[in-house]
Amino acid sequence: MLIAGNWKMNGLDASLSEVRALVAGLKARPGLKVVICPPATLLTRVVKEAGSAIGVGGQDCHAKVSGAFTGDISAEMLKDAGATWTIVGHSERRQYHGETDAVIAAKAEAGWRAGLGVMICVGELEAERVAGKEYEVVSTQLANSVPADAASHIVAIAYEPVWAIGTGRTATAEDIVKMHAHIRKELVARFGDAGAKIEILYGGSVNPKNAKEILSQPEVGGALVGGASLKAADFLTIVDAAP
Ligand code: PEP
Repeated sequence: MLIAGNWKMNGLDASLSEVRALVAGLKARPGLKVVICPPATLLTRVVKEAGSAIGVGGQDCHAKVSGAFTGDISAEMLKDAGATWTIVGHSERRQYHGETDAVIAAKAEAGWRAGLGVMICVGELEAERVAGKEYEVVSTQLANSVPADAASHIVAIAYEPVWAIGTGRTATAEDIVKMHAHIRKELVARFGDAGAKIEILYGGSVNPKNAKEILSQPEVGGALVGGASLKAADFLTIVDAAP
């Protein structure tokens, strides 16, 4: 299981006390990986606080190593700051920064080039689900934003229905089971046995109350948690809910 916390554009220095509390509270859980993705300005400080107890990740990376890309950060820079993971293709990047599947695939390749594990996010909009197109949308995102060589790298797919992110509206267990089975089928069809081993995380309003039910569903290999990762006590409860 991989439980990742995406702080988004939240967290000033004060958040480091939450990292300290998280480190102190993490019980030894063999086989369970915990990753925090803070804003880039906090990366080195979170790495220092987290030690080896928690992995640290970026929330995005540029596809190039360096260059005239004001405001961007490369995967190599994340690595240099101590990160071991990066998220790519978060719906907020797709929505507010116009990132296409091709851009996201290039960013995933950049993450691996730098030696990072990569969480690739996919998920449908509410209107797409209402129109009954959720499987088609996710299949297209998987086909075009997950690179052809994904199975030979450290990768997790995060299924994050956009209508469930930050809304308090979690997908039902049935929705999650069906979509994760669909994603697994696509991964196996494309990557064979290696596709069966890729972790599929669920994200979208995971909280201390619903974590146990979500994390116990078949093909749920962990969670990508936004709001509830900001408080150590909440995040620890979610971590503790992992089977
Ligand atoms: C996210 O940011 O990836 C996310 C799932 O957010 P939240 O848990 O707040 O819905």
